[in-house]
Amino acid sequence: MRLFDTHCHLQDERLLPEVDAVVTRAATAGVRYMLCCGSSEDDWGAVIDLAYRYECVIPALGIHPWHIGAVRGGWNERLEHLLRDHPEVAVGEIGLDHVLEERNDDEQMEIFYRQLILARQLGRPVSIHCRRAWGSLMELLRREPGIARNGVIHSYSGPVELVEELQRHGLLLSFSGSITYERNRRAREAVVKVNREHLLFETDSPDIPPDGHEGNNEPRTMVQVVETVAGLRGVPVEQVAKDAYSVASELFLPSRV
Ligand SMILES: [Zn+2]
Repeated sequence: MRLFDTHCHLQDERLLPEVDAVVTRAATAGVRYMLCCGSSEDDWGAVIDLAYRYECVIPALGIHPWHIGAVRGGWNERLEHLLRDHPEVAVGEIGLDHVLEERNDDEQMEIFYRQLILARQLGRPVSIHCRRAWGSLMELLRREPGIARNGVIHSYSGPVELVEELQRHGLLLSFSGSITYERNRRAREAVVKVNREHLLFETDSPDIPPDGHEGNNEPRTMVQVVETVAGLRGVPVEQVAKDAYSVASELFLPSRV
């Protein structure tokens, strides 16, 4: 079984010191590729370094809504420059988060929007974080159809009712270890509604460890996510893994497919 972890953070200080072992364990568990998402200018260099070191690491660069407060002037020119220099780099993690203690919804939307435009101009896929900001996201998608085409909503936690419309807007939905918890009824209901052509998996390592996993999460736990979803959809695990792998490869590795 070949797997593609479409969202993780290997540059995180909880994983970086033992990243060699993390990557080896992932490979042993069948994880062929990992999309490693940056979160602020401070970690873009580490993400690019990891992609140089490991052929299995696909880099993504972006400003996460949690780090909007610390952006420095000229960030967008520097991001554009890096994206132009590295044609294999995706855009992410970017998005909207309405659960923050200090709400800055307008700035979040502005920075999210600018990164979406940049991704579209350069033809890059996007990894999107959306936490309880579904109203704002849908408003944007309806106002500007196609704005987030080739985007992936990572660790989907939205309502089942939005699945169809998100797919119509050209978005893919990725599910993480959160789906392995029986209490997560919402995501479990949503995942059976997603079309095969729009379904992806991830670990969000080092966060969101799946049920029964202690400590930092790692890409090797992908297997548990895929097995859970295969069970929920009533499809053989090998088939679910194969379909998601080919969707992810076409999106993130168009030159290698
Ligand atoms: Zn993340």
